[in-house]
Amino acid sequence: MFKKILVANRGEIAVRIIRTCQELNIKTVAVYSEADRDALHVRMADEAVCIGAPQPSRSYLNIPNIISAAITRGAEAIHPGYGFLSENPYFAEICETSGIKFIGPPASAIEAMGAKARAREIMAAVGVPVVPGSPGLVTKDDDIAQIAESIGYPVIVKATAGGGGRGMRVANNLDELEKSVIAAGTEAEAAFGDGGVYLEKYLEEPRHVEIQVLADQHGQAVYLGERDCSIQRRHQKLVEETPCPSLTEDLRRQMGQAAVRAALSVSYSGAGTVEFLLDKSGSYYFIEMNTRIQVEHPVTEWVTGIDLVAAMIDIAAGAPLPYRQEEISPRGAAIECRINAENPDHDWRPCPGRVTDYLPPGGFGVRVDSGIYIGYEIPHYYDSLIAKLITWGSNRQEAIRRMQRALGEFRIAGVVTTIPFLQRIMDNAWFQRGETYTNFIQRRLEGL
Ligand code: ADP
Repeated sequence: MFKKILVANRGEIAVRIIRTCQELNIKTVAVYSEADRDALHVRMADEAVCIGAPQPSRSYLNIPNIISAAITRGAEAIHPGYGFLSENPYFAEICETSGIKFIGPPASAIEAMGAKARAREIMAAVGVPVVPGSPGLVTKDDDIAQIAESIGYPVIVKATAGGGGRGMRVANNLDELEKSVIAAGTEAEAAFGDGGVYLEKYLEEPRHVEIQVLADQHGQAVYLGERDCSIQRRHQKLVEETPCPSLTEDLRRQMGQAAVRAALSVSYSGAGTVEFLLDKSGSYYFIEMNTRIQVEHPVTEWVTGIDLVAAMIDIAAGAPLPYRQEEISPRGAAIECRINAENPDHDWRPCPGRVTDYLPPGGFGVRVDSGIYIGYEIPHYYDSLIAKLITWGSNRQEAIRRMQRALGEFRIAGVVTTIPFLQRIMDNAWFQRGETYTNFIQRRLEGL
């Protein structure tokens, strides 16, 4: 087992990784930018190294500085968290060639799943259903009219390098499609340095249902149930839950087995998530695989009792999976609310600033993963996620009631947060009945 791990991230996920390392008796090295000197992950780690200026490109994405920090501090492995370098195959490879274990899948698996248009092809080849769409990338010079006709409108134009809900456009006719292909390509080129786009059928009111998988380095893989992440705004998740309110045991097994097949087809190891859209008729379609730990992983941890970060570390150290599929039996229901320093009344503008008061909720069935404290100054350079509130209940209704209680108890002052908006979701009758789908917020809360 590793004696020292460098955590190449910040905020709540860095804190969360450090906590597990402490329990495993592994020393930690935090890295931080000049804007994060006072961050919680820096205080909690055994050692900390400044890796550059506040801009992510100069610190948390600065590969040479991170590798040097690992080497000079004697870290044997790097956990990349989510975002930043977590899905960068080049980084995974540099770690390995520098003699540092990358806590994640092999670079080849990250690469295979990284280009979404290609991942679709790989999935289709192993019999995992994909959303009907273009055979590969499209440009304005292709016969997009014919491709879209064969798929059927509306279609969605997506960036192959896309992520975080960016670079997607819905087109209802040829005129919109031609404009969207050009605009999405330009946007993707600017955001991701890769302007490749492809087409998918735009599914009406689907659920977003994803499967958590764990695979070891010896060819064994299991699925740990699903997460329903249908509560989204602009294709970004706000609330996640498990189990999915509408999934049958049979469908869960089918989707789980498809996810395992997906992972094995790219020789995956570590924790990964296979994302699907589920339509009203119960058909499911692969959309992408995230080759890292996800923001919403705690709901799965709670119902399965498995610490996913510990599992990732064990797998990276070469351990075989200690359980078989039949031994995984999720219990109860868990919900996660993402709390952001954003103002929903002002077009969700980020609201960085000083936290003047902070009192997280507690009690039975409540978990808070956060990187803030009283007096902490939230920098404006990074994502505005400041805390995740997770509740467990013996059933969905109990988890919701507990979430309502915990949100009411949560006190964060000094910055505007999304807590009141999350309360509106929990209080919504359609949400409470489990009638959720990806356009839920737009239709049920914003009346659009
Ligand atoms: P990203 O990588 O940017 O997160 P995804 O491909 O995972 O993009 O899609 C994010 C969200 O966008 C989905 O959860 C869903 O709400 C919406 N979406 C993506 N593809 C489709 C589609 N074909 N039809 C309807 N909605 C879609």
